[in-house]
Amino acid sequence: MLNRIAAAALALSASLVAIVAHAQDVDLDALERDVTILAADDMEGREAGTRGHERAAGYVAGRFAAMGLEPAGDGGTYFQSVPMRRYAPTEDGNSLAIEGLGELELFEDYYVEGTAQQESGSITAPLVFIGYGLDLPDRDDFADVDLEGAVAIRVYGGPDSLNSEESAHFRSTLSKRLSDRGAVGMLLMTTPELEQIYSWDRLVEVSSHGSSMTWVGPDGRAHAEGPNILASGSLSPDLSRELLAGQEFDYDDLVAAEATPEADLPSFALGREITINFASDFADIDTPNVIGMLPGSDPAVADEYIVLTAHLDHVGIQPTPEEGDDEIFNGALDNAVGVASMIQVARMLGEEPPRRPVLVIALTAEEKGLLGSSYNAANPTVPAEQVVANVNLDMPVATYDFADVVAFGAERSNLNPQVEAAVEQFGLTLSPDPQPEQGFFTRSDQYSYVRRGVPAVYLDLGFANGGEEAQGLVFDQHYHEPSDEIDLVNFDALARFTAVNHAIARNVANMAETPAWQAGDFFGTNFGGRILGEAAGGE
Ligand SMILES: [Zn+2]
Repeated sequence: MLNRIAAAALALSASLVAIVAHAQDVDLDALERDVTILAADDMEGREAGTRGHERAAGYVAGRFAAMGLEPAGDGGTYFQSVPMRRYAPTEDGNSLAIEGLGELELFEDYYVEGTAQQESGSITAPLVFIGYGLDLPDRDDFADVDLEGAVAIRVYGGPDSLNSEESAHFRSTLSKRLSDRGAVGMLLMTTPELEQIYSWDRLVEVSSHGSSMTWVGPDGRAHAEGPNILASGSLSPDLSRELLAGQEFDYDDLVAAEATPEADLPSFALGREITINFASDFADIDTPNVIGMLPGSDPAVADEYIVLTAHLDHVGIQPTPEEGDDEIFNGALDNAVGVASMIQVARMLGEEPPRRPVLVIALTAEEKGLLGSSYNAANPTVPAEQVVANVNLDMPVATYDFADVVAFGAERSNLNPQVEAAVEQFGLTLSPDPQPEQGFFTRSDQYSYVRRGVPAVYLDLGFANGGEEAQGLVFDQHYHEPSDEIDLVNFDALARFTAVNHAIARNVANMAETPAWQAGDFFGTNFGGRILGEAAGGE
Protein backbone atom coordinates (compact mmCIF):
# COMPACT_ATOMS: atom_id res chain seq x y z
CA MET A 1 0.00 0.00 0.00
CA LEU A 2 2.79 2.39 0.77
CA ASN A 3 4.24 1.85 -2.64
CA ARG A 4 0.95 2.76 -4.30
CA ILE A 5 0.70 5.99 -2.32
CA ALA A 6 4.30 6.85 -3.13
CA ALA A 7 3.70 6.10 -6.80
CA ALA A 8 0.61 8.30 -6.86
CA ALA A 9 2.44 11.12 -5.12
CA LEU A 10 5.28 10.78 -7.56
CA ALA A 11 3.07 10.87 -10.63
CA LEU A 12 1.45 13.99 -9.25
CA SER A 13 4.69 15.76 -8.42
CA ALA A 14 6.18 14.82 -11.80
CA SER A 15 3.29 16.41 -13.62
CA LEU A 16 3.68 19.57 -11.55
CA VAL A 17 7.41 19.89 -12.05
CA ALA A 18 7.11 22.81 -14.48
CA ILE A 19 5.02 25.02 -12.23
CA VAL A 20 6.13 24.10 -8.70
CA ALA A 21 9.36 25.87 -7.83
CA HIS A 22 10.48 23.31 -5.26
CA ALA A 23 9.64 20.05 -6.98
CA GLN A 24 13.17 18.90 -6.19
CA ASP A 25 12.71 19.32 -2.44
CA VAL A 26 13.13 16.37 -0.14
CA ASP A 27 9.85 14.60 0.61
CA LEU A 28 10.12 14.63 4.39
CA ASP A 29 7.17 12.27 4.91
CA ALA A 30 8.60 9.68 2.54
CA LEU A 31 12.04 10.01 4.15
CA GLU A 32 10.61 9.37 7.60
CA ARG A 33 8.41 6.53 6.37
CA ASP A 34 11.33 4.76 4.68
CA VAL A 35 13.52 4.98 7.79
CA THR A 36 10.60 3.83 9.97
CA ILE A 37 9.99 0.78 7.80
CA LEU A 38 13.65 -0.17 7.29
CA ALA A 39 14.49 0.21 10.99
CA ALA A 40 11.37 -1.61 12.21
CA ASP A 41 11.68 -4.75 14.33
CA ASP A 42 10.18 -6.94 11.59
CA MET A 43 13.28 -6.27 9.44
CA GLU A 44 15.13 -8.24 12.14
CA GLY A 45 18.31 -6.18 11.96
CA ARG A 46 18.76 -6.71 8.17
CA GLU A 47 21.76 -9.01 8.45
CA ALA A 48 23.04 -10.09 5.02
CA GLY A 49 21.84 -13.60 4.20
CA THR A 50 18.82 -13.48 6.52
CA ARG A 51 15.08 -13.20 5.91
CA GLY A 52 15.06 -9.69 7.44
CA HIS A 53 17.55 -8.40 4.89
CA GLU A 54 15.65 -10.07 2.03
CA ARG A 55 12.48 -8.35 3.23
CA ALA A 56 14.24 -4.97 3.35
CA ALA A 57 15.70 -5.57 -0.13
CA GLY A 58 12.20 -6.31 -1.45
CA TYR A 59 10.95 -3.06 0.07
CA VAL A 60 13.74 -1.02 -1.55
CA ALA A 61 13.13 -2.68 -4.93
CA GLY A 62 9.46 -1.68 -4.58
CA ARG A 63 10.49 1.91 -3.93
CA PHE A 64 12.79 1.88 -6.98
CA ALA A 65 9.94 0.54 -9.11
CA ALA A 66 7.51 3.13 -7.76
CA MET A 67 9.79 6.01 -8.73
CA GLY A 68 10.40 4.56 -12.19
CA LEU A 69 14.04 3.49 -11.87
CA GLU A 70 14.89 0.79 -14.42
CA PRO A 71 15.82 -2.63 -13.03
CA ALA A 72 19.62 -2.91 -13.34
CA GLY A 73 20.41 -6.11 -11.46
CA ASP A 74 20.63 -9.66 -12.85
CA GLY A 75 18.39 -10.70 -15.74
CA GLY A 76 16.07 -7.69 -15.85
CA THR A 77 15.43 -7.62 -12.09
CA TYR A 78 16.38 -5.13 -9.39
CA PHE A 79 18.50 -7.77 -7.65
CA GLN A 80 22.15 -8.62 -8.13
CA SER A 81 22.74 -11.88 -6.35
CA VAL A 82 25.98 -11.88 -4.34
CA PRO A 83 27.15 -15.44 -3.55
CA MET A 84 29.11 -15.48 -0.31
CA ARG A 85 31.11 -18.05 1.60
CA ARG A 86 31.51 -18.07 5.36
CA TYR A 87 34.55 -19.94 6.58
CA ALA A 88 35.34 -20.64 10.20
CA PRO A 89 38.30 -22.54 11.66
CA THR A 90 37.33 -26.07 12.68
CA GLU A 91 37.77 -26.92 16.34
CA ASP A 92 40.88 -29.04 16.08
CA GLY A 93 42.18 -28.72 12.53
CA ASN A 94 44.41 -25.69 13.03
CA SER A 95 47.89 -25.84 14.47
CA LEU A 96 51.34 -24.43 14.06
CA ALA A 97 54.85 -25.69 14.78
CA ILE A 98 58.11 -23.79 14.42
CA GLU A 99 61.42 -25.57 14.00
CA GLY A 100 63.36 -25.49 17.26
CA LEU A 101 60.63 -23.99 19.45
CA GLY A 102 59.05 -27.07 21.03
CA GLU A 103 55.32 -27.54 21.59
CA LEU A 104 53.17 -24.45 20.96
CA GLU A 105 49.60 -24.02 22.12
CA LEU A 106 46.66 -22.69 20.11
CA PHE A 107 45.15 -19.46 21.55
CA GLU A 108 47.97 -19.31 24.08
CA ASP A 109 50.95 -18.84 21.76
CA TYR A 110 49.25 -18.30 18.41
CA TYR A 111 46.15 -18.61 16.35
CA VAL A 112 45.81 -19.50 12.69
CA GLU A 113 43.03 -19.56 10.13
CA GLY A 114 42.73 -20.92 6.63
CA THR A 115 41.26 -19.67 3.41
CA ALA A 116 37.90 -19.64 1.64
CA GLN A 117 39.50 -21.37 -1.33
CA GLN A 118 40.59 -24.63 0.26
CA GLU A 119 38.86 -26.43 3.15
CA SER A 120 42.02 -27.85 4.65
CA GLY A 121 45.71 -28.36 4.06
CA SER A 122 49.20 -28.03 5.40
CA ILE A 123 52.18 -25.86 4.49
CA THR A 124 55.82 -26.14 5.48
CA ALA A 125 57.83 -23.09 4.53
CA PRO A 126 60.75 -20.86 5.51
CA LEU A 127 59.95 -17.90 7.80
CA VAL A 128 60.76 -14.39 6.58
CA PHE A 129 60.46 -11.21 8.66
CA ILE A 130 59.22 -8.29 6.52
CA GLY A 131 58.83 -5.39 9.00
CA TYR A 132 55.64 -3.54 8.11
CA GLY A 133 55.47 -4.99 4.61
CA LEU A 134 55.66 -1.56 2.96
CA ASP A 135 56.72 -0.95 -0.60
CA LEU A 136 57.05 2.78 -1.06
CA PRO A 137 59.23 4.54 -3.65
CA ASP A 138 61.83 5.28 -0.95
CA ARG A 139 61.28 2.29 1.30
CA ASP A 140 60.85 -1.29 0.13
CA ASP A 141 60.52 -3.89 2.88
CA PHE A 142 60.58 -6.64 0.24
CA ALA A 143 63.79 -5.58 -1.49
CA ASP A 144 66.26 -7.85 0.33
CA VAL A 145 64.17 -10.97 0.90
CA ASP A 146 62.87 -13.84 -1.20
CA LEU A 147 59.22 -14.54 -0.43
CA GLU A 148 58.65 -17.28 -2.99
CA GLY A 149 57.07 -20.19 -1.07
CA ALA A 150 57.65 -18.44 2.27
CA VAL A 151 55.55 -17.52 5.29
CA ALA A 152 55.92 -13.78 5.92
CA ILE A 153 55.91 -12.32 9.43
CA ARG A 154 55.08 -8.67 9.88
CA VAL A 155 54.34 -6.14 12.59
CA TYR A 156 51.46 -3.65 12.84
CA GLY A 157 51.87 0.08 12.24
CA GLY A 158 54.39 2.09 10.29
CA PRO A 159 56.55 5.20 10.25
CA ASP A 160 54.99 8.54 11.27
CA SER A 161 55.40 9.79 7.71
CA LEU A 162 52.55 7.54 6.53
CA ASN A 163 49.11 9.05 7.00
CA SER A 164 46.28 6.90 8.33
CA GLU A 165 44.65 6.33 4.93
CA GLU A 166 47.97 5.21 3.47
CA SER A 167 48.61 2.90 6.44
CA ALA A 168 45.15 1.42 6.07
CA HIS A 169 45.79 0.96 2.37
CA PHE A 170 49.03 -0.95 2.98
CA ARG A 171 47.35 -3.16 5.57
CA SER A 172 44.36 -3.97 3.38
CA THR A 173 46.51 -4.79 0.33
CA LEU A 174 49.22 -6.74 2.17
CA SER A 175 47.90 -10.21 1.38
CA LYS A 176 47.74 -9.30 -2.31
CA ARG A 177 51.24 -7.83 -2.36
CA LEU A 178 52.62 -10.88 -0.53
CA SER A 179 50.71 -13.29 -2.76
CA ASP A 180 52.06 -11.51 -5.85
CA ARG A 181 55.56 -12.21 -4.50
CA GLY A 182 54.82 -15.90 -4.01
CA ALA A 183 54.28 -16.02 -0.23
CA VAL A 184 51.99 -18.85 1.00
CA GLY A 185 51.32 -17.65 4.55
CA MET A 186 51.14 -14.44 6.56
CA LEU A 187 51.62 -13.98 10.30
CA LEU A 188 51.36 -10.95 12.56
CA MET A 189 53.69 -10.44 15.52
CA THR A 190 52.15 -8.86 18.62
CA THR A 191 54.23 -5.88 19.75
CA PRO A 192 53.49 -2.97 22.11
CA GLU A 193 52.40 -0.81 19.15
CA LEU A 194 49.70 -3.33 18.21
CA GLU A 195 48.69 -3.85 21.84
CA GLN A 196 47.84 -0.15 22.13
CA ILE A 197 44.92 -0.99 19.84
CA TYR A 198 44.27 -4.71 20.44
CA SER A 199 45.70 -6.64 23.33
CA TRP A 200 46.77 -10.21 22.63
CA ASP A 201 43.86 -11.44 24.78
CA ARG A 202 41.42 -9.41 22.72
CA LEU A 203 42.89 -10.67 19.44
CA VAL A 204 42.50 -14.25 20.65
CA GLU A 205 38.96 -13.64 21.86
CA VAL A 206 37.88 -12.19 18.51
CA SER A 207 39.60 -14.86 16.45
CA SER A 208 38.49 -17.81 18.56
CA HIS A 209 34.82 -16.92 18.02
CA GLY A 210 35.36 -15.61 14.56
CA SER A 211 34.37 -16.61 11.12
CA SER A 212 35.27 -14.75 7.95
CA MET A 213 33.36 -14.15 4.76
CA THR A 214 34.16 -13.46 1.18
CA TRP A 215 32.26 -13.49 -2.11
CA VAL A 216 32.35 -16.19 -4.71
CA GLY A 217 32.91 -15.01 -8.27
CA PRO A 218 30.97 -16.00 -11.39
CA ASP A 219 33.79 -18.53 -12.04
CA GLY A 220 32.87 -20.31 -8.79
CA ARG A 221 36.11 -19.34 -7.05
CA ALA A 222 36.04 -17.67 -3.66
CA HIS A 223 37.47 -14.17 -3.93
CA ALA A 224 40.79 -13.63 -2.18
CA GLU A 225 42.92 -10.51 -2.33
CA GLY A 226 45.96 -12.76 -2.14
CA PRO A 227 45.04 -16.12 -3.66
CA ASN A 228 48.40 -17.77 -2.88
CA ILE A 229 48.06 -17.10 0.85
CA LEU A 230 46.67 -20.32 2.34
CA ALA A 231 47.02 -19.57 6.04
CA SER A 232 47.31 -16.51 8.24
CA GLY A 233 47.36 -15.80 11.92
CA SER A 234 49.04 -14.08 14.85
CA LEU A 235 51.78 -14.81 17.36
CA SER A 236 51.65 -13.84 21.05
CA PRO A 237 54.15 -11.30 22.44
CA ASP A 238 56.01 -14.16 24.19
CA LEU A 239 56.24 -16.28 21.06
CA SER A 240 57.27 -13.20 19.05
CA ARG A 241 60.11 -12.60 21.49
CA GLU A 242 61.16 -16.25 21.44
CA LEU A 243 61.13 -16.37 17.67
CA LEU A 244 63.52 -13.41 17.34
CA ALA A 245 65.83 -14.54 20.16
CA GLY A 246 69.41 -14.91 18.90
CA GLN A 247 68.73 -12.94 15.71
CA GLU A 248 70.88 -9.91 14.92
CA PHE A 249 67.67 -7.88 15.24
CA ASP A 250 65.77 -9.23 18.25
CA TYR A 251 62.45 -8.42 19.93
CA ASP A 252 63.90 -5.65 22.12
CA ASP A 253 65.41 -4.02 19.02
CA LEU A 254 62.02 -4.30 17.34
CA VAL A 255 60.17 -2.68 20.24
CA ALA A 256 62.73 0.13 20.40
CA ALA A 257 62.65 0.72 16.63
CA GLU A 258 58.88 0.87 16.31
CA ALA A 259 58.77 3.56 19.01
CA THR A 260 60.85 5.93 16.83
CA PRO A 261 59.24 8.19 14.18
CA GLU A 262 61.19 6.56 11.33
CA ALA A 263 60.34 3.04 12.55
CA ASP A 264 63.18 1.60 10.53
CA LEU A 265 62.87 -2.19 10.53
CA PRO A 266 65.08 -4.61 8.61
CA SER A 267 63.75 -7.52 6.56
CA PHE A 268 65.48 -10.89 6.85
CA ALA A 269 65.00 -14.64 6.62
CA LEU A 270 64.81 -16.24 10.07
CA GLY A 271 66.63 -19.36 8.97
CA ARG A 272 63.99 -21.79 10.21
CA GLU A 273 60.86 -23.45 8.95
CA ILE A 274 57.27 -23.34 10.06
CA THR A 275 54.52 -25.91 9.53
CA ILE A 276 50.92 -24.72 9.56
CA ASN A 277 47.91 -27.05 9.42
CA PHE A 278 44.65 -25.36 8.57
CA ALA A 279 41.04 -26.47 8.26
CA SER A 280 37.80 -24.53 7.90
CA ASP A 281 34.09 -25.23 7.83
CA PHE A 282 32.44 -23.68 4.77
CA ALA A 283 28.87 -22.37 4.46
CA ASP A 284 27.63 -20.78 1.24
CA ILE A 285 24.83 -18.19 1.14
CA ASP A 286 23.32 -15.74 -1.34
CA THR A 287 22.34 -12.17 -0.59
CA PRO A 288 21.21 -9.40 -2.96
CA ASN A 289 22.41 -5.93 -3.89
CA VAL A 290 19.38 -3.91 -5.04
CA ILE A 291 20.11 -1.91 -8.20
CA GLY A 292 18.02 0.63 -10.09
CA MET A 293 19.06 2.87 -12.97
CA LEU A 294 18.08 6.36 -13.96
CA PRO A 295 18.95 6.99 -17.63
CA GLY A 296 20.82 10.22 -18.31
CA SER A 297 19.67 13.04 -20.57
CA ASP A 298 22.84 13.47 -22.71
CA PRO A 299 23.64 10.67 -25.21
CA ALA A 300 27.25 11.94 -25.40
CA VAL A 301 27.92 10.67 -21.85
CA ALA A 302 25.51 7.71 -21.83
CA ASP A 303 28.44 5.37 -21.15
CA GLU A 304 29.58 7.19 -18.00
CA TYR A 305 27.67 5.84 -14.99
CA ILE A 306 27.60 7.60 -11.64
CA VAL A 307 27.07 5.03 -8.87
CA LEU A 308 25.13 6.08 -5.76
CA THR A 309 25.51 3.64 -2.88
CA ALA A 310 24.30 3.08 0.68
CA HIS A 311 24.47 -0.22 2.52
CA LEU A 312 21.13 -1.75 3.45
CA ASP A 313 22.42 -4.56 5.65
CA HIS A 314 23.11 -4.31 9.37
CA VAL A 315 24.15 -6.74 12.09
CA GLY A 316 20.94 -8.70 12.71
CA ILE A 317 19.74 -10.12 15.99
CA GLN A 318 21.62 -10.44 19.27
CA PRO A 319 22.94 -14.02 19.39
CA THR A 320 22.96 -14.30 23.19
CA PRO A 321 20.48 -11.81 24.68
CA GLU A 322 20.08 -11.32 28.39
CA GLU A 323 16.57 -11.90 29.76
CA GLY A 324 14.36 -8.93 28.85
CA ASP A 325 16.90 -7.28 26.55
CA ASP A 326 16.04 -5.75 23.19
CA GLU A 327 17.39 -8.37 20.79
CA ILE A 328 17.13 -6.52 17.50
CA PHE A 329 19.82 -4.32 16.04
CA ASN A 330 17.54 -1.92 14.19
CA GLY A 331 20.35 0.07 12.59
CA ALA A 332 18.33 3.25 12.17
CA LEU A 333 21.46 5.38 11.78
CA ASP A 334 23.54 2.45 10.46
CA ASN A 335 22.32 2.67 7.75
CA ALA A 336 18.53 2.96 7.30
CA VAL A 337 18.95 6.74 7.15
CA GLY A 338 21.57 6.42 4.39
CA VAL A 339 19.32 4.19 2.28
CA ALA A 340 16.25 6.39 2.81
CA SER A 341 18.34 9.42 1.94
CA MET A 342 19.64 7.71 -1.22
CA ILE A 343 16.07 6.84 -2.26
CA GLN A 344 15.15 10.52 -1.97
CA VAL A 345 18.25 11.59 -3.93
CA ALA A 346 17.29 9.17 -6.70
CA ARG A 347 13.70 10.41 -6.70
CA MET A 348 14.84 14.05 -6.87
CA LEU A 349 17.32 13.31 -9.67
CA GLY A 350 14.49 11.63 -11.57
CA GLU A 351 12.45 14.85 -11.50
CA GLU A 352 14.93 16.32 -13.97
CA PRO A 353 17.43 13.67 -15.06
CA PRO A 354 21.05 14.88 -15.18
CA ARG A 355 23.35 14.30 -18.16
CA ARG A 356 24.91 11.03 -17.03
CA PRO A 357 23.05 7.83 -16.15
CA VAL A 358 22.93 7.02 -12.44
CA LEU A 359 23.02 3.57 -10.86
CA VAL A 360 21.34 3.53 -7.45
CA ILE A 361 22.53 0.62 -5.30
CA ALA A 362 21.36 -0.52 -1.86
CA LEU A 363 24.38 -2.66 -1.02
CA THR A 364 24.47 -5.85 0.99
CA ALA A 365 27.09 -7.24 3.38
CA GLU A 366 28.90 -4.00 4.20
CA GLU A 367 28.99 -5.18 7.79
CA LYS A 368 30.69 -8.42 6.64
CA GLY A 369 33.62 -6.46 5.26
CA LEU A 370 32.38 -4.32 2.34
CA LEU A 371 31.45 -7.51 0.47
CA GLY A 372 28.39 -6.31 -1.47
CA SER A 373 30.32 -3.33 -2.81
CA SER A 374 33.46 -5.36 -3.44
CA TYR A 375 31.41 -7.83 -5.49
CA ASN A 376 29.58 -5.08 -7.37
CA ALA A 377 32.75 -3.12 -8.10
CA ALA A 378 34.40 -6.30 -9.43
CA ASN A 379 31.28 -7.54 -11.26
CA PRO A 380 29.27 -4.46 -12.20
CA THR A 381 26.01 -4.92 -14.12
CA VAL A 382 27.26 -2.35 -16.68
CA PRO A 383 30.70 -2.57 -18.36
CA ALA A 384 33.31 -1.89 -15.65
CA GLU A 385 35.09 0.86 -17.60
CA GLN A 386 31.79 2.77 -17.76
CA VAL A 387 31.61 3.24 -13.97
CA VAL A 388 33.18 6.70 -13.54
CA ALA A 389 32.33 7.92 -10.02
CA ASN A 390 30.88 6.78 -6.72
CA VAL A 391 28.90 8.84 -4.20
CA ASN A 392 28.44 6.81 -1.01
CA LEU A 393 26.32 7.34 2.09
CA ASP A 394 27.11 5.45 5.26
CA MET A 395 25.70 6.23 8.65
CA PRO A 396 25.26 9.99 8.51
CA VAL A 397 24.79 10.83 12.20
CA ALA A 398 21.74 13.03 11.58
CA THR A 399 20.89 13.60 15.21
CA TYR A 400 21.59 17.34 15.54
CA ASP A 401 21.27 20.66 13.76
CA PHE A 402 24.51 20.46 11.81
CA ALA A 403 26.34 23.49 10.40
CA ASP A 404 29.18 21.84 8.49
CA VAL A 405 29.88 18.72 6.47
CA VAL A 406 32.95 16.62 5.67
CA ALA A 407 33.50 15.16 2.21
CA PHE A 408 35.89 12.23 2.58
CA GLY A 409 38.09 11.73 -0.45
CA ALA A 410 36.66 14.62 -2.50
CA GLU A 411 39.90 16.60 -2.68
CA ARG A 412 41.59 13.62 -4.32
CA SER A 413 39.67 14.12 -7.55
CA ASN A 414 37.79 16.66 -9.66
CA LEU A 415 34.65 15.80 -7.68
CA ASN A 416 35.79 18.43 -5.17
CA PRO A 417 34.49 21.57 -6.98
CA GLN A 418 31.13 19.81 -7.40
CA VAL A 419 31.00 19.11 -3.67
CA GLU A 420 32.09 22.67 -2.82
CA ALA A 421 29.36 24.16 -5.00
CA ALA A 422 26.70 21.94 -3.44
CA VAL A 423 27.78 22.73 0.09
CA GLU A 424 27.90 26.46 -0.61
CA GLN A 425 24.41 26.36 -2.10
CA PHE A 426 23.08 25.33 1.32
CA GLY A 427 25.10 27.88 3.29
CA LEU A 428 27.12 25.17 5.00
CA THR A 429 30.83 24.95 5.71
CA LEU A 430 32.96 22.23 4.12
CA SER A 431 35.29 21.20 6.95
CA PRO A 432 38.49 19.17 6.75
CA ASP A 433 38.36 15.61 8.13
CA PRO A 434 38.25 16.14 11.93
CA GLN A 435 39.57 12.59 12.63
CA PRO A 436 42.18 11.82 9.97
CA GLU A 437 43.62 9.09 12.23
CA GLN A 438 40.41 7.08 11.70
CA GLY A 439 41.04 6.63 7.96
CA PHE A 440 37.29 6.73 7.23
CA PHE A 441 37.79 6.95 3.47
CA THR A 442 39.08 3.37 3.46
CA ARG A 443 36.43 2.06 5.85
CA SER A 444 33.19 2.10 3.92
CA ASP A 445 31.85 0.95 0.58
CA GLN A 446 33.35 3.76 -1.51
CA TYR A 447 36.73 2.11 -0.98
CA SER A 448 35.61 -0.93 -3.01
CA TYR A 449 35.13 1.38 -6.00
CA VAL A 450 38.32 3.31 -5.25
CA ARG A 451 40.19 0.00 -5.43
CA ARG A 452 38.88 -0.40 -8.98
CA GLY A 453 40.23 3.04 -9.88
CA VAL A 454 36.91 4.90 -9.49
CA PRO A 455 37.00 8.39 -7.88
CA ALA A 456 34.61 8.60 -4.94
CA VAL A 457 33.23 10.87 -2.27
CA TYR A 458 31.53 10.05 0.98
CA LEU A 459 29.72 12.89 2.72
CA ASP A 460 29.25 13.06 6.48
CA LEU A 461 28.09 15.63 8.99
CA GLY A 462 30.71 17.80 10.67
CA PHE A 463 31.74 18.55 14.24
CA ALA A 464 30.50 22.19 14.42
CA ASN A 465 27.43 23.28 16.38
CA GLY A 466 27.61 20.44 18.90
CA GLY A 467 28.38 17.82 16.28
CA GLU A 468 31.45 16.46 18.00
CA GLU A 469 29.49 15.69 21.18
CA ALA A 470 26.45 14.40 19.29
CA GLN A 471 28.52 12.07 17.14
CA GLY A 472 30.64 10.96 20.10
CA LEU A 473 27.49 10.01 21.97
CA VAL A 474 26.22 7.89 19.09
CA PHE A 475 29.52 6.08 18.60
CA ASP A 476 29.97 5.51 22.35
CA GLN A 477 26.46 4.34 23.17
CA HIS A 478 24.50 3.31 20.09
CA TYR A 479 26.91 2.18 17.39
CA HIS A 480 26.20 -1.51 16.65
CA GLU A 481 23.87 -1.66 19.65
CA PRO A 482 20.13 -2.50 19.78
CA SER A 483 19.59 1.14 20.84
CA ASP A 484 20.42 2.44 17.33
CA GLU A 485 16.72 3.21 16.86
CA ILE A 486 14.62 5.74 15.03
CA ASP A 487 14.14 8.01 18.04
CA LEU A 488 17.77 9.13 17.57
CA VAL A 489 17.07 10.58 14.14
CA ASN A 490 16.52 14.32 13.61
CA PHE A 491 14.53 14.25 10.37
CA ASP A 492 14.94 17.95 9.61
CA ALA A 493 18.69 17.44 9.75
CA LEU A 494 18.44 14.29 7.62
CA ALA A 495 16.33 16.13 5.03
CA ARG A 496 18.90 18.94 4.81
CA PHE A 497 21.73 16.42 4.54
CA THR A 498 19.78 14.63 1.80
CA ALA A 499 19.33 17.89 -0.11
CA VAL A 500 23.10 18.49 -0.05
CA ASN A 501 23.74 14.95 -1.25
CA HIS A 502 21.25 15.41 -4.04
CA ALA A 503 23.08 18.55 -5.14
CA ILE A 504 26.42 16.70 -5.05
CA ALA A 505 25.08 13.75 -7.05
CA ARG A 506 23.43 16.07 -9.56
CA ASN A 507 26.55 18.22 -9.96
CA VAL A 508 28.75 15.14 -10.46
CA ALA A 509 26.32 13.63 -12.98
CA ASN A 510 26.31 16.95 -14.87
CA MET A 511 30.09 17.62 -14.80
CA ALA A 512 31.66 18.92 -18.00
CA GLU A 513 34.76 16.74 -17.57
CA THR A 514 34.75 13.02 -16.86
CA PRO A 515 35.45 12.34 -13.16
CA ALA A 516 39.19 11.73 -12.65
CA TRP A 517 41.81 11.63 -9.88
CA GLN A 518 44.18 14.52 -9.25
CA ALA A 519 47.59 13.98 -10.81
CA GLY A 520 49.84 12.12 -8.34
CA ASP A 521 47.01 11.13 -6.01
CA PHE A 522 47.99 8.13 -3.89
CA PHE A 523 44.87 6.04 -4.60
CA GLY A 524 44.41 7.11 -8.21
CA THR A 525 48.00 6.14 -8.92
CA ASN A 526 48.02 2.88 -6.92
CA PHE A 527 44.78 1.58 -8.39
CA GLY A 528 45.26 2.62 -12.00
CA GLY A 529 42.40 5.12 -12.12
CA ARG A 530 41.73 7.79 -14.71
CA ILE A 531 44.09 10.69 -13.89
CA LEU A 532 43.31 14.35 -14.64
CA GLY A 533 45.19 15.52 -17.68
CA GLU A 534 46.04 11.95 -18.71
CA ALA A 535 42.53 10.78 -19.55
CA ALA A 536 41.83 10.03 -23.17
CA GLY A 537 40.11 13.06 -24.63
CA GLY A 538 40.94 15.06 -21.49
CA GLU A 539 42.86 18.30 -21.49
ZN1 LIG B 1 27.82 -0.71 10.82
